[in-house]
Amino acid sequence: METILLTDLTVADICKGFTYSKVEAKGLFGWGGKLIIQPEYQRHYIYDDGKHDVDVIYSLLKKYPLGLLYFVRRPDGMYEVLDGQQRITSFGRYVTGHFSIIDEDDKREKQFSALPEDKRNRILGSPLTIYVCEGTESEIKQWFETINIVGMKLTEQEKRNAIFSGKFVTEAKKVFSNSSNSNMKKWRSYIKGDPKRQEILEEALCWVAKAEKDDRLIDRYMSEHRDNGDISELTDYFESVINWINSTFKDVESKMKGLEWGRLWRTYHHQGYDPDVLSEKIQRLLSDTQIEDPRGIWEYVLGGEQDTQLLDVRVFDPKTKDFVYRQQTAAAKEKGESNCPLCAIGHDANHTKIWDLKDMDADHVTAWSKGGSTDIDNCQMLCKTHNRAKGNR
Ligand SMILES: [Zn+2]
Repeated sequence: METILLTDLTVADICKGFTYSKVEAKGLFGWGGKLIIQPEYQRHYIYDDGKHDVDVIYSLLKKYPLGLLYFVRRPDGMYEVLDGQQRITSFGRYVTGHFSIIDEDDKREKQFSALPEDKRNRILGSPLTIYVCEGTESEIKQWFETINIVGMKLTEQEKRNAIFSGKFVTEAKKVFSNSSNSNMKKWRSYIKGDPKRQEILEEALCWVAKAEKDDRLIDRYMSEHRDNGDISELTDYFESVINWINSTFKDVESKMKGLEWGRLWRTYHHQGYDPDVLSEKIQRLLSDTQIEDPRGIWEYVLGGEQDTQLLDVRVFDPKTKDFVYRQQTAAAKEKGESNCPLCAIGHDANHTKIWDLKDMDADHVTAWSKGGSTDIDNCQMLCKTHNRAKGNR
Protein backbone atom coordinates (compact mmCIF):
# COMPACT_ATOMS: atom_id res chain seq x y z
CA MET A 1 0.00 0.00 0.00
CA GLU A 2 1.11 3.49 -0.79
CA THR A 3 0.55 6.38 1.56
CA ILE A 4 1.28 9.95 0.54
CA LEU A 5 1.23 12.91 2.88
CA LEU A 6 -0.19 16.09 1.35
CA THR A 7 0.54 19.35 3.17
CA ASP A 8 0.17 21.93 0.42
CA LEU A 9 -3.61 21.95 0.12
CA THR A 10 -5.69 24.64 1.80
CA VAL A 11 -9.35 25.06 2.71
CA ALA A 12 -9.72 27.14 -0.48
CA ASP A 13 -8.45 24.25 -2.63
CA ILE A 14 -10.88 21.75 -1.13
CA CYS A 15 -13.78 24.26 -1.31
CA LYS A 16 -13.29 24.67 -5.06
CA GLY A 17 -16.49 23.28 -6.61
CA PHE A 18 -17.90 22.35 -3.22
CA THR A 19 -21.45 21.02 -3.47
CA TYR A 20 -23.75 19.99 -0.69
CA SER A 21 -27.17 18.40 -0.95
CA LYS A 22 -29.03 18.01 2.29
CA VAL A 23 -31.93 16.30 0.55
CA GLU A 24 -29.85 13.47 -0.87
CA ALA A 25 -27.41 13.58 2.03
CA LYS A 26 -24.74 12.39 -0.35
CA GLY A 27 -22.72 13.13 -3.42
CA LEU A 28 -20.76 16.07 -2.14
CA PHE A 29 -17.78 17.07 -4.18
CA GLY A 30 -14.81 19.33 -3.67
CA TRP A 31 -11.26 19.95 -4.86
CA GLY A 32 -12.49 20.90 -8.28
CA GLY A 33 -14.62 17.75 -8.64
CA LYS A 34 -11.80 15.33 -7.83
CA LEU A 35 -12.91 14.65 -4.26
CA ILE A 36 -15.99 12.76 -3.19
CA ILE A 37 -16.61 14.19 0.24
CA GLN A 38 -19.48 11.95 1.17
CA PRO A 39 -19.07 8.59 -0.49
CA GLU A 40 -21.91 6.11 -0.27
CA TYR A 41 -20.48 4.30 2.69
CA GLN A 42 -19.96 7.28 4.92
CA ARG A 43 -22.34 8.17 7.66
CA HIS A 44 -24.58 11.11 7.05
CA TYR A 45 -23.49 14.61 7.89
CA ILE A 46 -24.14 15.06 11.59
CA TYR A 47 -22.20 18.24 12.37
CA ASP A 48 -25.02 20.56 11.28
CA ASP A 49 -26.07 21.26 14.83
CA GLY A 50 -24.83 24.81 15.31
CA LYS A 51 -22.09 23.52 17.58
CA HIS A 52 -19.78 21.05 15.85
CA ASP A 53 -19.92 22.92 12.56
CA VAL A 54 -19.36 26.29 14.27
CA ASP A 55 -16.44 24.85 16.27
CA VAL A 56 -14.71 23.86 13.05
CA ILE A 57 -14.81 27.50 11.87
CA TYR A 58 -13.59 28.84 15.21
CA SER A 59 -10.72 26.37 15.08
CA LEU A 60 -9.69 27.69 11.66
CA LEU A 61 -9.97 31.32 12.81
CA LYS A 62 -7.79 30.55 15.82
CA LYS A 63 -5.32 28.65 13.60
CA TYR A 64 -5.86 25.46 15.53
CA PRO A 65 -5.02 22.37 13.51
CA LEU A 66 -8.08 20.64 12.14
CA GLY A 67 -6.53 17.23 12.60
CA LEU A 68 -5.51 14.70 10.01
CA LEU A 69 -7.74 14.08 7.02
CA TYR A 70 -7.65 10.73 5.28
CA PHE A 71 -8.40 10.25 1.59
CA VAL A 72 -8.42 7.11 -0.49
CA ARG A 73 -7.26 7.36 -4.08
CA ARG A 74 -9.40 5.19 -6.33
CA PRO A 75 -8.21 3.34 -9.41
CA ASP A 76 -10.10 5.88 -11.59
CA GLY A 77 -8.08 8.75 -10.13
CA MET A 78 -10.88 10.14 -7.97
CA TYR A 79 -10.41 10.64 -4.24
CA GLU A 80 -12.79 9.68 -1.46
CA VAL A 81 -12.78 11.03 2.05
CA LEU A 82 -12.13 8.18 4.45
CA ASP A 83 -12.03 10.34 7.54
CA GLY A 84 -12.76 14.04 7.73
CA GLN A 85 -16.10 14.23 6.01
CA GLN A 86 -17.72 16.11 8.91
CA ARG A 87 -14.95 18.69 9.14
CA ILE A 88 -14.69 19.25 5.38
CA THR A 89 -18.45 19.55 4.98
CA SER A 90 -18.55 22.04 7.85
CA PHE A 91 -16.03 24.46 6.35
CA GLY A 92 -17.44 23.90 2.87
CA ARG A 93 -20.92 24.78 4.04
CA TYR A 94 -19.68 27.85 5.86
CA VAL A 95 -17.68 29.17 2.94
CA THR A 96 -20.68 28.65 0.64
CA GLY A 97 -23.03 30.55 2.97
CA HIS A 98 -25.03 27.73 4.56
CA PHE A 99 -24.74 28.90 8.16
CA SER A 100 -23.39 31.73 10.25
CA ILE A 101 -21.17 32.13 13.30
CA ILE A 102 -20.80 34.83 15.93
CA ASP A 103 -17.82 37.06 15.12
CA GLU A 104 -16.00 37.15 18.44
CA ASP A 105 -14.75 40.70 17.87
CA ASP A 106 -18.11 42.46 17.57
CA LYS A 107 -20.41 39.63 18.77
CA ARG A 108 -22.47 39.79 15.58
CA GLU A 109 -23.78 36.85 13.67
CA LYS A 110 -22.05 36.57 10.32
CA GLN A 111 -22.12 34.43 7.26
CA PHE A 112 -18.82 33.93 5.49
CA SER A 113 -19.38 36.81 3.06
CA ALA A 114 -19.95 39.23 5.96
CA LEU A 115 -16.65 38.46 7.68
CA PRO A 116 -13.83 40.99 7.34
CA GLU A 117 -11.38 40.14 4.59
CA ASP A 118 -8.52 39.10 6.86
CA LYS A 119 -10.74 36.52 8.55
CA ARG A 120 -12.03 35.21 5.26
CA ASN A 121 -8.46 34.83 4.06
CA ARG A 122 -7.43 33.13 7.27
CA ILE A 123 -10.13 30.49 6.75
CA LEU A 124 -9.43 30.00 3.05
CA GLY A 125 -5.68 29.90 3.57
CA SER A 126 -5.77 27.36 6.41
CA PRO A 127 -3.36 24.56 5.52
CA LEU A 128 -4.65 20.99 5.68
CA THR A 129 -2.79 17.83 6.48
CA ILE A 130 -3.99 14.96 4.36
CA TYR A 131 -2.95 11.34 4.18
CA VAL A 132 -3.77 9.74 0.86
CA CYS A 133 -3.85 5.99 0.70
CA GLU A 134 -3.94 3.71 -2.29
CA GLY A 135 -4.08 -0.04 -1.80
CA THR A 136 -5.93 -3.31 -1.72
CA GLU A 137 -9.09 -4.04 0.26
CA SER A 138 -7.29 -5.66 3.12
CA GLU A 139 -4.73 -2.90 3.28
CA ILE A 140 -7.40 -0.24 3.44
CA LYS A 141 -9.24 -2.28 6.04
CA GLN A 142 -6.15 -2.47 8.20
CA TRP A 143 -5.63 1.22 7.71
CA PHE A 144 -9.19 1.82 8.91
CA GLU A 145 -8.58 -0.05 12.12
CA THR A 146 -5.72 2.22 13.02
CA ILE A 147 -7.46 5.50 12.30
CA ASN A 148 -8.86 7.11 15.36
CA ILE A 149 -12.01 8.69 14.08
CA VAL A 150 -12.57 12.09 15.63
CA GLY A 151 -15.75 12.36 17.68
CA MET A 152 -17.47 9.15 16.79
CA LYS A 153 -15.98 5.88 15.68
CA LEU A 154 -17.19 4.21 12.53
CA THR A 155 -19.39 1.19 13.17
CA GLU A 156 -18.24 -2.18 11.87
CA GLN A 157 -20.75 -2.00 9.05
CA GLU A 158 -19.72 1.53 8.07
CA LYS A 159 -16.19 0.17 7.65
CA ARG A 160 -17.41 -2.80 5.61
CA ASN A 161 -19.46 -0.51 3.36
CA ALA A 162 -16.28 1.45 2.72
CA ILE A 163 -14.13 -1.56 2.00
CA PHE A 164 -16.67 -3.24 -0.28
CA SER A 165 -18.15 -0.09 -1.79
CA GLY A 166 -19.81 -0.75 -5.12
CA LYS A 167 -23.17 -1.45 -6.72
CA PHE A 168 -24.29 -3.87 -4.03
CA VAL A 169 -23.71 -1.45 -1.16
CA THR A 170 -25.35 1.37 -3.10
CA GLU A 171 -28.54 -0.63 -3.67
CA ALA A 172 -28.60 -2.20 -0.21
CA LYS A 173 -28.29 1.18 1.44
CA LYS A 174 -31.33 2.47 -0.45
CA VAL A 175 -33.40 -0.13 1.38
CA PHE A 176 -31.77 -0.66 4.75
CA SER A 177 -30.09 2.65 5.56
CA ASN A 178 -33.01 4.86 4.70
CA SER A 179 -34.73 6.12 7.85
CA SER A 180 -37.78 7.20 5.89
CA ASN A 181 -38.39 3.71 4.48
CA SER A 182 -42.01 3.02 5.44
CA ASN A 183 -41.11 -0.40 6.87
CA MET A 184 -38.32 0.92 9.05
CA LYS A 185 -40.47 1.41 12.15
CA LYS A 186 -41.65 -2.19 12.03
CA TRP A 187 -38.13 -3.50 11.42
CA ARG A 188 -36.74 -1.51 14.29
CA SER A 189 -39.20 -3.07 16.71
CA TYR A 190 -37.30 -6.33 16.14
CA ILE A 191 -33.80 -5.08 15.31
CA LYS A 192 -31.57 -2.94 17.46
CA GLY A 193 -29.57 -0.13 15.93
CA ASP A 194 -29.69 2.94 13.76
CA PRO A 195 -30.23 2.69 10.00
CA LYS A 196 -28.01 5.75 9.50
CA ARG A 197 -25.17 3.97 11.28
CA GLN A 198 -25.73 0.96 8.95
CA GLU A 199 -26.85 -1.31 11.77
CA ILE A 200 -30.09 -2.45 10.14
CA LEU A 201 -28.12 -3.34 7.01
CA GLU A 202 -25.64 -5.20 9.18
CA GLU A 203 -28.46 -7.29 10.64
CA ALA A 204 -29.90 -8.03 7.20
CA LEU A 205 -26.45 -9.18 6.07
CA CYS A 206 -26.01 -11.27 9.20
CA TRP A 207 -29.21 -13.09 8.38
CA VAL A 208 -28.54 -13.82 4.74
CA ALA A 209 -24.88 -14.69 5.37
CA LYS A 210 -25.92 -16.92 8.29
CA ALA A 211 -23.48 -15.03 10.43
CA GLU A 212 -23.75 -14.16 14.08
CA LYS A 213 -22.20 -10.71 13.81
CA ASP A 214 -19.28 -12.72 12.44
CA ASP A 215 -17.15 -10.36 10.39
CA ARG A 216 -15.63 -12.92 8.09
CA LEU A 217 -18.95 -14.31 6.86
CA ILE A 218 -20.40 -10.86 6.25
CA ASP A 219 -17.17 -9.81 4.56
CA ARG A 220 -17.30 -12.85 2.32
CA TYR A 221 -20.91 -12.19 1.35
CA MET A 222 -20.22 -8.54 0.58
CA SER A 223 -17.10 -9.37 -1.35
CA GLU A 224 -18.90 -11.97 -3.49
CA HIS A 225 -21.78 -9.59 -4.28
CA ARG A 226 -19.78 -6.41 -4.49
CA ASP A 227 -20.39 -5.53 -8.14
CA ASN A 228 -23.90 -6.94 -8.23
CA GLY A 229 -26.69 -4.37 -8.19
CA ASP A 230 -29.30 -7.11 -7.73
CA ILE A 231 -29.88 -7.38 -3.99
CA SER A 232 -33.01 -9.55 -4.16
CA GLU A 233 -31.42 -12.43 -2.25
CA LEU A 234 -30.71 -10.05 0.61
CA THR A 235 -34.15 -8.44 0.60
CA ASP A 236 -36.04 -11.74 0.08
CA TYR A 237 -34.25 -13.38 2.96
CA PHE A 238 -34.82 -10.38 5.17
CA GLU A 239 -38.52 -10.27 4.36
CA SER A 240 -38.90 -14.00 5.04
CA VAL A 241 -37.54 -13.54 8.53
CA ILE A 242 -39.59 -10.42 9.26
CA ASN A 243 -42.80 -11.99 7.91
CA TRP A 244 -42.18 -15.09 10.02
CA ILE A 245 -41.76 -13.00 13.19
CA ASN A 246 -44.91 -11.09 12.29
CA SER A 247 -47.06 -14.10 11.67
CA THR A 248 -45.72 -16.20 14.55
CA PHE A 249 -45.89 -13.62 17.32
CA LYS A 250 -49.06 -11.58 17.70
CA ASP A 251 -47.69 -9.04 20.14
CA VAL A 252 -44.75 -6.72 19.59
CA GLU A 253 -42.89 -6.61 22.89
CA SER A 254 -39.97 -4.31 23.67
CA LYS A 255 -37.89 -7.30 24.76
CA MET A 256 -38.10 -8.85 21.28
CA LYS A 257 -35.85 -6.10 20.00
CA GLY A 258 -32.37 -7.34 19.18
CA LEU A 259 -33.02 -11.07 19.54
CA GLU A 260 -31.02 -13.29 17.19
CA TRP A 261 -33.86 -13.50 14.72
CA GLY A 262 -31.77 -14.89 11.89
CA ARG A 263 -30.76 -17.90 13.96
CA LEU A 264 -34.25 -18.33 15.45
CA TRP A 265 -35.77 -18.31 11.97
CA ARG A 266 -33.25 -20.87 10.67
CA THR A 267 -33.86 -23.12 13.65
CA TYR A 268 -37.63 -22.93 14.02
CA HIS A 269 -39.34 -21.74 10.84
CA HIS A 270 -39.97 -25.29 9.59
CA GLN A 271 -42.23 -25.95 12.57
CA GLY A 272 -45.84 -24.87 12.77
CA TYR A 273 -47.10 -22.76 15.63
CA ASP A 274 -50.45 -21.46 16.77
CA PRO A 275 -49.93 -17.71 17.35
CA ASP A 276 -52.76 -17.58 19.89
CA VAL A 277 -51.20 -20.34 21.97
CA LEU A 278 -47.74 -18.78 21.75
CA SER A 279 -49.08 -15.38 22.69
CA GLU A 280 -50.82 -16.76 25.77
CA LYS A 281 -47.64 -18.56 26.87
CA ILE A 282 -45.44 -15.53 26.30
CA GLN A 283 -47.72 -13.23 28.24
CA ARG A 284 -47.78 -15.65 31.16
CA LEU A 285 -43.98 -15.97 31.15
CA LEU A 286 -43.47 -12.22 30.85
CA SER A 287 -45.37 -11.73 34.11
CA ASP A 288 -43.37 -14.45 35.90
CA THR A 289 -41.09 -12.59 38.31
CA GLN A 290 -38.85 -15.64 38.74
CA ILE A 291 -37.54 -15.31 35.19
CA GLU A 292 -34.33 -13.30 35.26
CA ASP A 293 -33.81 -13.27 31.50
CA PRO A 294 -37.14 -12.57 29.78
CA ARG A 295 -35.34 -12.23 26.44
CA GLY A 296 -35.04 -16.01 26.42
CA ILE A 297 -38.82 -16.43 26.49
CA TRP A 298 -39.29 -16.42 22.70
CA GLU A 299 -36.81 -19.18 22.05
CA TYR A 300 -38.12 -21.09 25.07
CA VAL A 301 -41.66 -21.25 23.66
CA LEU A 302 -40.43 -21.91 20.10
CA GLY A 303 -38.49 -24.88 21.44
CA GLY A 304 -41.54 -26.36 23.14
CA GLU A 305 -40.76 -25.08 26.65
CA GLN A 306 -37.96 -27.55 27.26
CA ASP A 307 -34.84 -25.51 27.91
CA THR A 308 -35.38 -23.56 31.13
CA GLN A 309 -31.74 -22.42 31.02
CA LEU A 310 -32.82 -19.89 28.39
CA LEU A 311 -34.85 -18.11 31.05
CA ASP A 312 -32.27 -17.92 33.80
CA VAL A 313 -34.86 -18.70 36.47
CA ARG A 314 -34.14 -17.02 39.75
CA VAL A 315 -31.84 -18.94 42.07
CA PHE A 316 -31.84 -19.22 45.85
CA ASP A 317 -29.84 -16.56 47.66
CA PRO A 318 -26.82 -17.49 49.85
CA LYS A 319 -28.69 -16.86 53.12
CA THR A 320 -31.45 -19.29 52.19
CA LYS A 321 -28.94 -21.90 51.05
CA ASP A 322 -26.96 -21.58 54.25
CA PHE A 323 -30.08 -21.92 56.40
CA VAL A 324 -31.38 -24.97 54.53
CA TYR A 325 -27.90 -26.53 54.59
CA ARG A 326 -27.69 -26.25 58.39
CA GLN A 327 -31.17 -27.68 58.92
CA GLN A 328 -30.63 -30.54 56.50
CA THR A 329 -27.17 -31.38 57.86
CA ALA A 330 -28.28 -31.41 61.51
CA ALA A 331 -31.20 -33.72 60.70
CA ALA A 332 -28.99 -36.01 58.57
CA LYS A 333 -26.35 -36.37 61.29
CA GLU A 334 -29.03 -37.37 63.76
CA LYS A 335 -30.27 -40.10 61.42
CA GLY A 336 -26.73 -41.15 60.50
CA GLU A 337 -27.22 -40.65 56.78
CA SER A 338 -26.01 -38.27 54.08
CA ASN A 339 -27.09 -34.64 54.12
CA CYS A 340 -27.83 -34.98 50.39
CA PRO A 341 -31.31 -36.55 50.39
CA LEU A 342 -30.60 -38.34 47.11
CA CYS A 343 -27.30 -39.78 48.37
CA ALA A 344 -29.12 -40.83 51.56
CA ILE A 345 -31.53 -43.09 49.66
CA GLY A 346 -28.72 -44.61 47.58
CA HIS A 347 -26.74 -47.71 48.39
CA ASP A 348 -23.17 -46.67 47.64
CA ALA A 349 -20.46 -45.24 49.86
CA ASN A 350 -22.02 -41.77 49.74
CA HIS A 351 -25.03 -43.13 51.64
CA THR A 352 -23.72 -41.56 54.87
CA LYS A 353 -21.52 -38.85 53.43
CA ILE A 354 -21.83 -35.39 54.99
CA TRP A 355 -21.06 -32.88 52.21
CA ASP A 356 -19.59 -29.43 52.78
CA LEU A 357 -21.76 -26.50 51.81
CA LYS A 358 -19.35 -25.69 48.95
CA ASP A 359 -19.94 -29.15 47.47
CA MET A 360 -23.69 -28.73 47.34
CA ASP A 361 -26.15 -26.71 45.25
CA ALA A 362 -29.66 -25.47 45.90
CA ASP A 363 -32.46 -27.23 44.07
CA HIS A 364 -36.14 -26.43 43.54
CA VAL A 365 -38.03 -29.39 45.14
CA THR A 366 -40.89 -28.69 42.77
CA ALA A 367 -39.37 -27.47 39.52
CA TRP A 368 -40.07 -23.90 38.41
CA SER A 369 -41.66 -25.24 35.23
CA LYS A 370 -44.14 -27.23 37.35
CA GLY A 371 -45.12 -24.16 39.33
CA GLY A 372 -42.49 -24.37 42.08
CA SER A 373 -41.36 -21.06 43.54
CA THR A 374 -37.96 -19.80 44.61
CA ASP A 375 -38.93 -19.75 48.31
CA ILE A 376 -37.21 -21.36 51.25
CA ASP A 377 -40.02 -23.97 51.55
CA ASN A 378 -39.21 -25.19 48.05
CA CYS A 379 -35.44 -25.31 48.55
CA GLN A 380 -33.34 -28.38 49.17
CA MET A 381 -29.59 -28.78 49.05
CA LEU A 382 -28.22 -31.57 46.85
CA CYS A 383 -24.67 -32.69 46.25
CA LYS A 384 -23.39 -31.24 42.99
CA THR A 385 -23.61 -34.54 41.14
CA HIS A 386 -27.24 -35.13 42.07
CA ASN A 387 -28.18 -31.52 41.43
CA ARG A 388 -26.72 -31.69 37.97
CA ALA A 389 -28.48 -34.97 37.26
CA LYS A 390 -31.79 -33.54 38.37
CA GLY A 391 -31.32 -30.33 36.42
CA ASN A 392 -30.84 -32.25 33.19
CA ARG A 393 -34.02 -34.23 33.46
ZN1 LIG B 1 -26.12 -36.69 46.43
